[in-house]
Amino acid sequence: MDIQPFSLPLSSPLSTADGTIESRRGFLVRTEIDGVAGVGEAAPLPGWTESYDACQAALCGVEKPKQALEDNVFDDTPAARHAVSLAVADAAARRAGVPLYRRLGAGERVESVPVNATVGDGSPSATAEAVADAAAAGFPAAKVKVGNRSLDADIERIEAVRQRYPDIELRVDANGAWEFETAREAVESLSALGVAVLEQPLPAEALDNHRRLRGHGIDIALDEGLLRHGVDAAIAAEAADCLVCKPMALGGVDIARSAAERARADGWDVIVTTTIDGVVARAAAVHLAASVPDVRPCGLATGGRLASDVGPDAAPVSDGTAAVPQGKGNIPPL
Ligand SMILES: [Mg+2]
Repeated sequence: MDIQPFSLPLSSPLSTADGTIESRRGFLVRTEIDGVAGVGEAAPLPGWTESYDACQAALCGVEKPKQALEDNVFDDTPAARHAVSLAVADAAARRAGVPLYRRLGAGERVESVPVNATVGDGSPSATAEAVADAAAAGFPAAKVKVGNRSLDADIERIEAVRQRYPDIELRVDANGAWEFETAREAVESLSALGVAVLEQPLPAEALDNHRRLRGHGIDIALDEGLLRHGVDAAIAAEAADCLVCKPMALGGVDIARSAAERARADGWDVIVTTTIDGVVARAAAVHLAASVPDVRPCGLATGGRLASDVGPDAAPVSDGTAAVPQGKGNIPPL
């Protein structure tokens, strides 16, 4: 297995709950299975996955990719597993002569998947401006990050958006910032403003309290909570209406696909998102989304956040959709 490091600067630094991200570093892995090449990507993001060093160590320990997957050697290194499993799946899809999304289980041709815009923290006017840009670019949904300011201040931001854009689907993502009472107030105010989805209002540990927030006119989505508890526990706890699947953090598109399938079978909605990955992982996430029936607009319009990439954009976003690559495997050879 060939391992090639990369570092991709962001077009502008991104502040998150875990600090400011200025670039995305990771590894492309190449393997060959029965004479057919496959490529995978690991873009570790501490806070969501293992560290860069741990990822590198895990990848360097792999001699036979398929065997390593069967032996479950990637328990604590989801980004490394993502790369290896993707390289294997890519090779298998190429060998079968089908695009990756068909290999993942899609029954028919899928041309594109709907995507959402993501809007960071900012003043009410800056938030409204960013949603204006998203609406003008044709995005069917905009996800607004909240939880960095008081609830009243966040509600003011959403009101500013709503006044100007009554039609766009709005979601908010609190990244676990709130306590239960605040979240309950938020549910009331946000559903009155017609917000469709509230993502991870409470810390990842909470499952039962997420359930108590359901049924008030706004869909509750689990993101960090899915990683913490796994899909079976989340569904058993009836903790949400919607599952956010990040293949890089979950350990691969195959694992994410199983989680999505399980969630859909129980009537949950599914949203696929990247962790701002290079084009190999981003396109794989698009394939995953294409394999999920009735997927909601997904957080896959993240390529524009990178100032450079490991290859040409194989799943370009326009008019609120990401094009699904139709060639064999994941993307054309780099
Ligand atoms: Mg989230």
